Amino acid sequence: MKVLVLNAGSSSQKSCLYDLNDTSLPDNPPHPLWEATIDWTVADDYGLLKVKSAGKKLETKLDSNNRQAAIAKMLNTLVDGESKVLEQLSEINIVGHRVVHGGTKYSQALKITPEVKATIKNLIPLAPTHNPAHLEGIEAIEEALGSVSQVAVFDTAFHQQIPLEAAIYPLPYELYTDKNIRRYGFHGISHKYCAARTAQILELPLESLKIITCHLGNGCSLAAIKEGISIDTTMGFTPLEGLMMGTRSGSIDPAILIYLMREYNYTPDQLNTMLNKESGFKGVSGISADLRAIDAAITEGNQRAKLAFDIYIHRIKACIGSMLASLGGLDVLVFTAGIGENAHTVREKVCQGFEFLGLKLDVAKNNARPMDQDVSTPDSTIRVLVVHTEEDWAIAQECWHILS
Ligand code: ADP
Repeated sequence: MKVLVLNAGSSSQKSCLYDLNDTSLPDNPPHPLWEATIDWTVADDYGLLKVKSAGKKLETKLDSNNRQAAIAKMLNTLVDGESKVLEQLSEINIVGHRVVHGGTKYSQALKITPEVKATIKNLIPLAPTHNPAHLEGIEAIEEALGSVSQVAVFDTAFHQQIPLEAAIYPLPYELYTDKNIRRYGFHGISHKYCAARTAQILELPLESLKIITCHLGNGCSLAAIKEGISIDTTMGFTPLEGLMMGTRSGSIDPAILIYLMREYNYTPDQLNTMLNKESGFKGVSGISADLRAIDAAITEGNQRAKLAFDIYIHRIKACIGSMLASLGGLDVLVFTAGIGENAHTVREKVCQGFEFLGLKLDVAKNNARPMDQDVSTPDSTIRVLVVHTEEDWAIAQECWHILS
């Protein structure tokens, strides 16, 4: 079974092709047959297509005025030139899309119909940069592959069972009933995958575990997972709430915004840019959104970089504390994504906050670039895992289940 995965973001289009057995899924994530990324951030007038397949790496410039045509060119590298892995595109059996926002309607992956497309379109006000990019991808596939089955896997779906007391903001109730203002939560594909992978690594039933997954990348969120179900998460109505992130503030006192509007005439657009693009690591340190640059500055004695790091850790620990109470205990703390997988100092500092519960990190293991591994000591009361998140593989698995 050939499964194509499309993961469209505001500034990139990632894609990969898996070749799967019809009868069973492998235990470990397989390597894709072909991988491609279009990066729209390199220049104003073109995007950079990078393709990895058949042991080769290619790079081509693509006109950014027509993104749908660019996606078609990306797909063409599957059947043409040095990166060719298929005779024709019709060999693809199913296409899975990561869709950031599914609102409250979708709690699981499903086949894309005209109705599903209309819902994704209706949700554009809630995901203004992502949902249009997903529709572009879906339409590019319709154009190139005709009536192939397409599946939407929603980043919000895993959080749909969060109980109302954790989902509804203490605002006038009509904002929830009439304007759909509630916690949706994001990164659900990653949180769900990491929880399942945790159970697999520990060889324990997922239903028996209380897990907190820490997805720490450019965007950061936690999920509290009980019996395999997300019961709380830090991101909310938008992916701005919760933890401090690369350029996003995470949660702040909302009255700060009212104050800035009243006293300094900030406009909604200025506030939006400030909160989403100029805050977090970048805003506090004044150096970079990238933790690697912050680490380097800390080594050189930069105090603002150190402060940014300390705020980041403080907020992760505070939110874990809140999740602990929601779960009523904890069996496993999981770290994933760019920072969670690579930054051993972040894991160490966060874990130090929970030593009073009997959590003991094996520092040597934690420092030795662990991947899909337990880094706690045998006598730790809480297991600590580093899991490599595989969102594309999670989407491919959903497609496989839908076709099988
Ligand atoms: P995205 O949320 O865009 O998918 P990633 O999960 O790839 O992002 O995370 C990107 C972030 O991971 C980078 O901005 C950087 O801060 C962090 N990161 C990646 N590698 C390292 C590393 N070796 N040490 C510290 N931080 C790292």
